[in-house]
Amino acid sequence: MSEPRRVVTDSMIGLKLPDYTRLSPRVATVLGHNPGPFTGPGTNTYIVGTGRRPLLLDTGIGVPKWAELLPIGLKELANSDEFEKIVLTHAHMDHIGGVKDAHRLFGRVDVYKKPWPGHDEPAGVPVSVIDHDAVVTTEGATLRAVFTPGHAPDHLCYYLVEEKALFTGDVVLGAGTTIIPDETGDLGQYMDSLRRLLALDVEKIYPAHGPVIKDAKRKIQEYISHRELRERQVLEAIKDGPLEVTAIVKTIYTDVPEFLHPAAAQSMRSHLKKLRNEGRVVEHDNRWGLN
Ligand SMILES: [Zn+2]
Repeated sequence: MSEPRRVVTDSMIGLKLPDYTRLSPRVATVLGHNPGPFTGPGTNTYIVGTGRRPLLLDTGIGVPKWAELLPIGLKELANSDEFEKIVLTHAHMDHIGGVKDAHRLFGRVDVYKKPWPGHDEPAGVPVSVIDHDAVVTTEGATLRAVFTPGHAPDHLCYYLVEEKALFTGDVVLGAGTTIIPDETGDLGQYMDSLRRLLALDVEKIYPAHGPVIKDAKRKIQEYISHRELRERQVLEAIKDGPLEVTAIVKTIYTDVPEFLHPAAAQSMRSHLKKLRNEGRVVEHDNRWGLN
């Protein structure tokens, strides 16, 4: 099999996005202003719908700058002063942390997400339970939830029927690749989630971080190919004998600056765990080798 030509090597670092932007007749975004190496300029929080009370999709980490911008963005972009409801992709702090601010500003509207016991508390209210295939509507927009675990066990993407668009949360990003956390992530589930998204009739992606992706299918396929390539590289790196994770990272991540190697190591451990689940590698004394 030939190597894929496109490999994801771009990153979030240095990306800039406006404070708020109208993206389509029914979608606008307000920047979360929680910048970082893995969040880029910050989380995109989306205003969705065409009515006077649209819905808010994700809420950032909860910084004052976002709470300042949100009512301004809502007024300017949607000519609105209130939200009908809040919808969340998953319980990571940079998506759920702003719920309290939104409630303070706009009242305690319902918050919809797939529950993740022990992780939903920062929302500050009990969540309204939704799961795979649930439909959430507001005037001018129909969202269908797609269960996409792997980055987080509670992750839902939302398919926007009217635009054949997908709110991907952290499953597919506008730049760089997704982190699969050591403790709570699962690369095998993540790959299944990507394949589930690829099977949808999707044209455009509104990611939680970075700019809008216009060619959705190509991006999702690129993500799948990237992980498949990494997997082949891992197996290649240990074919002559077991190695520690840091040594595997040094062999493979020649194109990635050293300060990102801890994140790369996390990604390598995800690959190794997936391969171990499949019975293809074994671990002995922190060294990983072929089974
Ligand atoms: Zn996340």
